Amino acid sequence: MPIRWRLTILYGGVLSLVLVVFSTGVDIYFQSSLQRSIDAKLRSMAEVISQSVTDVRDPSIFQNVEQLLERSLGRKPKGKLIQITDSSGRVRAQSNDMEGESFNISINAFDRAKSGEIVYETIEKPGHPRLRVITLPIMDRAKTGSPSLVQVATSLEDFDETMKRLLIILIIGVLTSVGVTIGAGYYMAKKALKPVDKIRKAAVKISSRNLEEYIDIGLRKDELGKLADTFNAMIARLRDAFQRINQFSIDVSHELKTPLTILKGSTDVALRKDRDSKEYRSLLTSHLEEIDRMSQIIDDLLLLSKADTGKMQLTMEDVAVRDLVLEVFMDMQIFAEKKNVDLVVGNLEDVTLKGDELKLRRMLWNIVDNGIKYTQTGGKVEISSTVEDGYVRINVRDTGVGIGDEDIKYIFDRFYRADRARKRESGTGLGLSISKWIAEAHKGEIEVESRASSGSMFSLKLPL
Ligand code: ADP
Repeated sequence: MPIRWRLTILYGGVLSLVLVVFSTGVDIYFQSSLQRSIDAKLRSMAEVISQSVTDVRDPSIFQNVEQLLERSLGRKPKGKLIQITDSSGRVRAQSNDMEGESFNISINAFDRAKSGEIVYETIEKPGHPRLRVITLPIMDRAKTGSPSLVQVATSLEDFDETMKRLLIILIIGVLTSVGVTIGAGYYMAKKALKPVDKIRKAAVKISSRNLEEYIDIGLRKDELGKLADTFNAMIARLRDAFQRINQFSIDVSHELKTPLTILKGSTDVALRKDRDSKEYRSLLTSHLEEIDRMSQIIDDLLLLSKADTGKMQLTMEDVAVRDLVLEVFMDMQIFAEKKNVDLVVGNLEDVTLKGDELKLRRMLWNIVDNGIKYTQTGGKVEISSTVEDGYVRINVRDTGVGIGDEDIKYIFDRFYRADRARKRESGTGLGLSISKWIAEAHKGEIEVESRASSGSMFSLKLPL
């Protein structure tokens, strides 16, 4: 069942219940207070009579009673049937201005009245209006020995009519309010939920090809506005992710295509004529270099995609920073010597951190390798470490080519290389992306300070 119907039924139901309870309360209250006032009137009349009648055998009592009532109530009672009976129930006197009405009270009521109780009774006769009767014993002042009873009855016709009208008004009131509320509620719910349908339709349409679209439900600051904003933000994130993946595939194909083209080109040339074994050897050696390069790219990509999907596990252990730096320093010495770059170690702090030793080594290795790669012959690369509140910094400072302002924000991007012209001499363009991931996986970061042609300083900041 659609939400708008469920909402409408719910508040229609609740409102009906409240109104029905309220109307029943009103009805009961009116009924009982009207009844009480009728009973009070009957009683005051009956009491006047009972106190003034002295001898029920006196035939003129009714004249006296009527005058008495007129005097004590200020007017002649109308629509009343008054009768006085003896103890056997025989009517001794009667004053009746209700034509054709008569009544008999129940035996039980009669007995209770005889024993001195004031008894009220409602008498129903088919084809006649209901009567309300009070039966009250008369003091036996004449000492006749048998108590007489005075009975005053009044028609409940007006009362019943009033109650009937009240009931009709309440029913019409309840039905109209419930009807209007259900109508208005349905309209409101439909209007309020319209944007949900828009969002649904937009969501159905969204695919990788139309991530440019966004959900437009106008300017709304309510929950649905927020929902649409959340959706739009999600679409934007998907769009970015798709674009990145797309760009990444283009870059990967490009990166792998270049070595393949070189392999194919040189193989074609070599096959054009017979060559001696020395030439083949040199060709195969250069092929091996290209193959190594391709497999390095593929290894790096695998590592990054594992890192992206969260499948990369870190093996945490105690790592002595000093030993780590010295090991990398020894490993890299040979490359530095080859390039005639002076690789030195500066001040090293003797601290231990929790981390994945192999990954940390790989990160430092990348940074030092870059330092050597991007420093001219005769330059210098220095590794040192410092400690500051809760962190250790491993700093790699070089006197190399530096990084221009326009490049520095991209160097951590995949396949980004600042010096496009010397592309192939540099690495795969993935080293810094991997290093950044390793630093972040250790809750650390890599900071760079560099300017074109004035060297660079990479600082690996890792929590202790
Ligand atoms: P690459 O394999 O090309 O070195 P990296 O991701 O390690 O890839 O580095 C990205 C780019 O950042 C490099 O191509 C280079 O232009 C620049 N870069 C990194 N380190 C340095 C450095 N120490 N000095 C100057 N440029 C650097």
